Amino acid sequence: MAEIYKSTKKFGTRYGRTLKGRFGKIEAEQRKKHICPYCRKESVKRVAVGIWNCKKCDKKFTGRAYTLAIKKKAVVKSEEEQE
Ligand SMILES: [Zn+2]
Repeated sequence: MAEIYKSTKKFGTRYGRTLKGRFGKIEAEQRKKHICPYCRKESVKRVAVGIWNCKKCDKKFTGRAYTLAIKKKAVVKSEEEQE
């Protein structure tokens, strides 16, 4: 039992550190261009919180508030459901 407690504690500390690192990353990510989930070109810019616009194919879509995490399928499900 003692060992389980130890490893859980260690994981908790690591997780907290990861979260903190992520917040700094989000700051940088919302300023750079993102890859469009439709045409795969790097021309997506955030136009408002959670709203993104691709200049290449002129699609507007919603995503995360500050970053586009397009690797997750859930983000792209709004208009077309390919894949
Ligand atoms: Zn596009």
